[in-house]
Amino acid sequence: GHQPKAFRNHPALWRDRWPVHGVDTHKYQRGSALVVAGGLSGVGAPRLGARAALRVGAGLVTIACHPEALAAHAARGPDAVMQRPISDAPALSALLADQRLSAVLAGPALGLDAGARDLVMTILRAHIPAVFDADALTLLAVRPASILRLCERRGAPCVLTPHEGEFARLFGGQAAIRDAPSKLERARRAAAFSGCIIVLKGPDTVIAHPDGTAAINTTGSAALATAGAGDVLGGLIAGLLAQGMPAFEAACAAVWLHGRAGDALGPGLIADDLPEAILPVMRSLTAGDAS
Ligand code: AMP
Ligand code: MG
Repeated sequence: GHQPKAFRNHPALWRDRWPVHGVDTHKYQRGSALVVAGGLSGVGAPRLGARAALRVGAGLVTIACHPEALAAHAARGPDAVMQRPISDAPALSALLADQRLSAVLAGPALGLDAGARDLVMTILRAHIPAVFDADALTLLAVRPASILRLCERRGAPCVLTPHEGEFARLFGGQAAIRDAPSKLERARRAAAFSGCIIVLKGPDTVIAHPDGTAAINTTGSAALATAGAGDVLGGLIAGLLAQGMPAFEAACAAVWLHGRAGDALGPGLIADDLPEAILPVMRSLTAGDAS
């Protein structure tokens, strides 16, 4: 059938939705993002996401983690990131009830046990824009039916950020998605199936909207194929969602910035470098000279 156009991902697609803050703004108006983390076995990945969310402009970023990991998180920067203990799903529910919270990122080093699954299910029930990445995608893939029209059912935007392996776990059981003729078409069909914004990562990352609109990204290189790069991307998307940017535009902008930052750093980049490297890229955006 007829498909809407696929665009090259470019600031022209989303620049007019980029968050603008007035001179009298305060930090809650700049958005409050929650990164849901796991235990001591992975404190780096959620911190990369948190740092990226702060750098892209969220006013407030909190990491929720297992109590055992609290001290480890508190000992690491940036100092502005707060931490809250969550021993179980009800504790997370209490945090999600905060009316000021405007986006959630879940997945990086979340863990794959029953407790982690309960946390993901709790986020699904919350009416807050969410990014699901990494372990959260693996947990969602356990019951593929849970992904069917996910966003409509939860009544808030969701962005799923799978790499090819995670995508295969999530949608590999759907022949119509798996056997689509191109990466673009696979992402589009996955978006239509799930009702979510799909960010199918890798070279030529595709960002797909359930209505068929899609963007193909051309920034970035294999220098980004390094541990933690995806965690930074999740944080960038969450940070833009927190500031009220619509989900498709937030995902496109984050992927573009992330790639540009990777290009500026070049070979030898590590994920820790990426949140800082978006600063000159953002400056060029607002100066209007990004091409
Ligand atoms: P992850 O697989 O979760 O670690 O995420 C890796 C990040 O790096 C994603 O944003 C990918 O799109 C990006 N990336 C990985 N490999 C490449 C590549 N060969 N070219 C461009 N971007 C890449
Ligand atoms: Mg990843």
